[in-house]
Amino acid sequence: MIEKIDFLIIGAGISGLSTAIELQKFGKVLLLLKNGYEDSNTFYAAGGIASSGPWSKDYKGHIQDTLIAGDGLCNKDVVEFVVNHGTKHLQNLIDWGVNFDKKSNGEYDLGQEGGHHTRRVLLTGDLTGSSILKVLIEKARSLPNIKFRTDQVAINLIEKKGKCVGAYVLNNKNQEIYTIQAKATVLATGGCGKVYLYTSNPDVASGDGIAMAWRIGAEICNMEMIQFHPTCLYHPLAKNFLVSEALRGEGAILKTIQGERFMEGIHPQKELAPRDIVSRAIDKILKETGDDYVYLDISFKDPKYIKKRFPGTYKKAKQFNIDITTEPIPVVPAAHYCCGGIKATIEGKTSVSGLFAVGESTYTGLHGANRLASNSLLEGLVCGNECGKYIGQNYKDKPVNNFEIKEWVSGDVEDSKEAFVITSNWQEIRSTMQYYASIIRSDSYLLRARHRITLFHDEVNSYYWNFKITSDLIELRNLLTVARLIVESAIARKESRGSHYTFDYPNKADVVRDTCLKRYW
Ligand SMILES: Cc1cc2nc3c(=O)[nH]c(=O)nc-3n(C[C@H](O)[C@H](O)[C@H](O)COP(=O)(O)OP(=O)(O)OC[C@H]3O[C@@H](n4cnc5c(N)ncnc54)[C@H](O)[C@@H]3O)c2cc1C
Repeated sequence: MIEKIDFLIIGAGISGLSTAIELQKFGKVLLLLKNGYEDSNTFYAAGGIASSGPWSKDYKGHIQDTLIAGDGLCNKDVVEFVVNHGTKHLQNLIDWGVNFDKKSNGEYDLGQEGGHHTRRVLLTGDLTGSSILKVLIEKARSLPNIKFRTDQVAINLIEKKGKCVGAYVLNNKNQEIYTIQAKATVLATGGCGKVYLYTSNPDVASGDGIAMAWRIGAEICNMEMIQFHPTCLYHPLAKNFLVSEALRGEGAILKTIQGERFMEGIHPQKELAPRDIVSRAIDKILKETGDDYVYLDISFKDPKYIKKRFPGTYKKAKQFNIDITTEPIPVVPAAHYCCGGIKATIEGKTSVSGLFAVGESTYTGLHGANRLASNSLLEGLVCGNECGKYIGQNYKDKPVNNFEIKEWVSGDVEDSKEAFVITSNWQEIRSTMQYYASIIRSDSYLLRARHRITLFHDEVNSYYWNFKITSDLIELRNLLTVARLIVESAIARKESRGSHYTFDYPNKADVVRDTCLKRYW
């Protein structure tokens, strides 16, 4: 079946929804979601959204803090644009019903996070992402030109004469594959945390958009810049539970399994050192000792205080039989945010005509080598709106492409004996990335990762074209592509900068450059 639509948007987090709400003014928009409405990184965003609107009035400071965090790799024009253009869109969110926290005097109760030199983060408790998502979905649903489709997995983009003209999609409700042709296609597919064994990201974050863009020939930049969060709960049944920085803010200490405190000799701020320094210290201990985790301990504080101050963490840990008032919490650093991605302008233009990209799947130059906390929701909001406006103005009068497109052909082998190959490969890839291409890297680790991933790649490729396609198989193939992109970019960067640290080149290089790759396998 071939379906024609004006505009196709793949992904409905903050960036896809913002694009859709603007773009529907110019034509019909179809929004595809891999799973349900809440399966996105946006839903989990807890800290807030950085903003220098009239409520904080510190545009210059916000720009400066973003540039410092980005460690020399930001595009200053992009930083200035995003910071200066957030207010209007945030005001829309407020008008549509997002109730950011206020103080008793009616002013916004702004938060402050690591790397920000002042309070400029709008938040709704620790549920900012889900509050914004709810309002954006309600708004989009009220607009007749927007159609949502859940449980639809985009498989591949379609290329004709150097242009992107649509996508092949697996309908996960009936397992049928269909074709969509559109004037413009937008990737808003989010990050790729699932490429690592430990991540704060939900299961949908398998880097599908980045992998699809790579396959169609779009430029992908700075994939080695993966930001890690130091403390994710280590437990076989806990998938992606972050233990908040606030515990360390209230005095929780990090120690080895043997009980030795280790941050004291590493940084004057000890446990409250910047995220990358704490993550690196933990990774070093794990690599040196072979232990699986370290401990984060707040159990020396009054149990009543702990339960009152951290009710969410207390409750969640209890589900895994850990009582944080009496025992330490096992933690590991976890992949949190992908600073690199599909090279895109503020308006979402990629290097492929007809293909646009927004949000965490992109590299616009806002985050550089390391993201300033709470800037990613802002990027999704601003760039999504700009992208919608740009496509609308430039594509509204064009007809939907009329190319002849072949239907998707995939294998039809269904062999239950082989089904475990997907899960076992998935685990192996994620472990390989965790051990050899995560926080502390070296040439030899990375070469080992490259060797293993190339082998998996060959194996999965032959499997992919013979077997009946499923969403697990699609994700496995995409994870492999993204893993390979991270490893190749990390090998290419002969320096340590931002979130990329390697034993072999511990200093910054004199020449600052992006690591950009274009399809070669
Ligand atoms: C635990 C956590 C806390 C965070 N806290 C903050 C914070 O406080 N402040 C901040 O600014 N940022 C925070 N972030 C980062 C921020 O949430 C994300 O960067 C941002 O929400 C990404 O938005 P997005 O629209 O680009 O992607 P997402 O919100 O991840 O949306 C991706 C969409 O793409 C769809 N999709 C993916 N693949 C396919 C496919 N193949 N076919 C069809 N659909 C597909 C998914 O279904 C989903 O709808 C946090 C992230 C996490 C994980």
